[in-house]
Amino acid sequence: MKMNNTFIKTLREAPKEETSTNGALLTRAGFIHKEMAGIYDYLPFGIRVLEKIKNIVREELNAIGCEEVLMSTLQNPEPWEKTGRFSDAEVDIWFKTELASGGTLGLAPTHEEPMVEMLKNYISSYKDLPLAIYQFQTKFRNEKRAKSGIMRGREFLMKDLYSFHTSEEDLDRFYEKAEQAYKNVFERIGLGDCTYETFASGGIFSKYSHEFQTFLPVGEDTVYYNEDRSLVFNKEVFTDEILAEFGTTKGKFSETRAAEVGNIFKLMLKFSDPLELNYTDENNNLQKIYMGCYGIGISRAMGVVAEKYADEKGLVWPESIAPFKYYVVGIGDEGAEEAVKIYKGHEELMILDDRDVRPGEKFADADLIGIPYRVVISEKTLAEDSLEVTSRATGEPKIVKIDKFLSNL
Ligand code: ATP
Ligand code: MG
Repeated sequence: MKMNNTFIKTLREAPKEETSTNGALLTRAGFIHKEMAGIYDYLPFGIRVLEKIKNIVREELNAIGCEEVLMSTLQNPEPWEKTGRFSDAEVDIWFKTELASGGTLGLAPTHEEPMVEMLKNYISSYKDLPLAIYQFQTKFRNEKRAKSGIMRGREFLMKDLYSFHTSEEDLDRFYEKAEQAYKNVFERIGLGDCTYETFASGGIFSKYSHEFQTFLPVGEDTVYYNEDRSLVFNKEVFTDEILAEFGTTKGKFSETRAAEVGNIFKLMLKFSDPLELNYTDENNNLQKIYMGCYGIGISRAMGVVAEKYADEKGLVWPESIAPFKYYVVGIGDEGAEEAVKIYKGHEELMILDDRDVRPGEKFADADLIGIPYRVVISEKTLAEDSLEVTSRATGEPKIVKIDKFLSNL
């Protein structure tokens, strides 16, 4: 990408009403544009980060046998009425809209009901199971507060996965695989050492669900952890009674703030029962299908990474999800010429800052945008057939021979 070819402009100041760090920095660096509270556009840098996170999730889920779909956003109320969840009293974050031909539709806040309804067309026998189906989809939620930048949107990108099983044991087996896939995802997007699997309340049929919580001072949740963080509890399960089950007590725990980046949940028969999702077994008897659901907040995860690693100069992306790996700046005529040569053929890997502005301004933008490595070519480095590579995370500069740099790309 060439800076001269993009419409994005970095901003020295964030809009006043953008109070969150992630919202302010992502706006200033040209990743997002705010339409309204909790409603954001994703610009070219922003999409690249989302796509990289999506691809990591996709790889991990495909590796455990999941299949990808894309379901509709507009929702037929019928299956939701069968579970009682179309009612605003039951689910208080619906956005709803009217059909010109009459009748109300919903804008999906999640997809259990339509997923189950759809699968009734495809599952009939035990031979069709197990199944694990996921999508990346925009969800709509009429959230009361939306002050955390892209960490809480009224429109946001979620990965939702649903699994279907002939027995509870088979659900348990898959649940463990999903747990590991989630750990891999958070590790790969740079949140491995600050994200913990927590015990959360489990609803009606299973005792606990699990959340993946990233410890973060501006996180909206409160969690409790013991010294070695082998046990982390959400607020709603942090009771004397539950802690006793784990052979521990409140005094052994500290409180901290965290952001929920994902969760996994054994739904058991909660949706297959009312929506009548069944299969026939080997003896031709009708049986119920056990379900699990597994969410990751893709756009929230992007906000959490932005928030977690930001410093006083701007964003600091882990290489795995950075929009580009290198930010290339040529100084002087010769430097600029050589920068163009280096950039050629590496458009997916590099931003070439070919603008007619001072080097200092380019460096400031490289830091603000948070590209992992800044590459500077000047008369001085060229005298040694070299360039200077500076890590955004450590600030450490290295002189590298141009040949060697190019052959290692
Ligand atoms: P929260 O408690 O933060 O409202 P939730 O329990 O409503 O989350 P789920 O319905 O399980 O979340 O959604 C799955 C995932 O989607 C969450 O783990 C979170 O990462 C993400 N998510 C939920 N609500 C939002 C939102 N308003 N904006 C961005 N991401 C969200
Ligand atoms: Mg919520």
